[in-house]
Amino acid sequence: MPDRLNIKNLSPSQIATEIAEMGEQRHRTRQIMQWIWQKGVASFDEMTSLSLGLRSRLNERFRIPAMRVAGSVSSGSDGSQKFLLECEDGAVVEVVLMEARGIFTLCVSSQVGCPLACSFCRTGVGGLERDLSTGEILDQILYFRLYHIPPRRRFNIVFMGMGEPLLNTANVFPALEILNHEDGFALREKRITISTIGLPARIKELEISGLKAGLAVSLNAVDDNTRKKLMPAAVSIKKTLSAAEEYAVSRKMRATLEYVLIAGVNDSPEDAGVLASLTAGRPFKINIIPFNEWEGCSLKRPDEKTIDTFIEILLPTAPAVTVRRSQGGDIGAACGQLRADRNEYGL
Ligand code: SF4
Repeated sequence: MPDRLNIKNLSPSQIATEIAEMGEQRHRTRQIMQWIWQKGVASFDEMTSLSLGLRSRLNERFRIPAMRVAGSVSSGSDGSQKFLLECEDGAVVEVVLMEARGIFTLCVSSQVGCPLACSFCRTGVGGLERDLSTGEILDQILYFRLYHIPPRRRFNIVFMGMGEPLLNTANVFPALEILNHEDGFALREKRITISTIGLPARIKELEISGLKAGLAVSLNAVDDNTRKKLMPAAVSIKKTLSAAEEYAVSRKMRATLEYVLIAGVNDSPEDAGVLASLTAGRPFKINIIPFNEWEGCSLKRPDEKTIDTFIEILLPTAPAVTVRRSQGGDIGAACGQLRADRNEYGL
């Protein structure tokens, strides 16, 4: 039955349409979603609350594939784990699982590779292979919720793995719908973060979609020239900050501005002063991420004194400043280090 649809790629309304076409009652959609996204079944035969006849007809029309865990490595320093997940067509992506103070955070991918070639990011080096489907995005989360995160334990999802999520809205938005849905993962705004280089039109789409997710924008510089050198696809800082601010205001929450601190590029006291004045009084949180070095990249991490000075200048006026000492640096799992290299897993 080669033409069967992957049911994991369907949004709740698409499943409802299919169920209606099959002449079934509406509540079957809820049951099917719960079996797939809450119980994690691998076949329609396991959906024991459905009649045998319906199970058989679903099986003729759909399939329930799952990504395969091809490898994993654990950090010796902080316990974070990096996993290589393989899609049906052999494409691979990486997912990082971290735990801090009892809360798990799962850093998931939205694309196989990335087309945006940010100079500080290892993922962008190989370009884009393809977008992940809705089911592939959600499979990353389902697997960890079933097998790695204790039941009822709080966990966060951050779209900071491989890829630019707002370049794959066709699949990321339905995935968000299922993450939010009470018959899916039932996760609210505070538990999900979309991280983007800042694409104003796409941020607007997310805003008006009503989907529940927080927003993190990679700022990384306080002047457009430096920002363009680091992120060739970035639009102006003014437009980026306006888009993030509008989103934050509309959702009554702060947007996070990520700032990867790179030695001699964007880490001067003057840069800190401009960042403070650009953001003062606006609905932002600032997350400073000292650059995580990787082989083949000439950019360097600032020394601790430079990092401390940068923060001290920001603190009096900039909103909610935090420093992210990324986890997983020793296994290539920290921010900007993912590249889904099978060799790193001994494969
Ligand atoms: S930082 Fe994000 S958008 Fe830029 S190349 Fe890496 S994955 Fe792509």
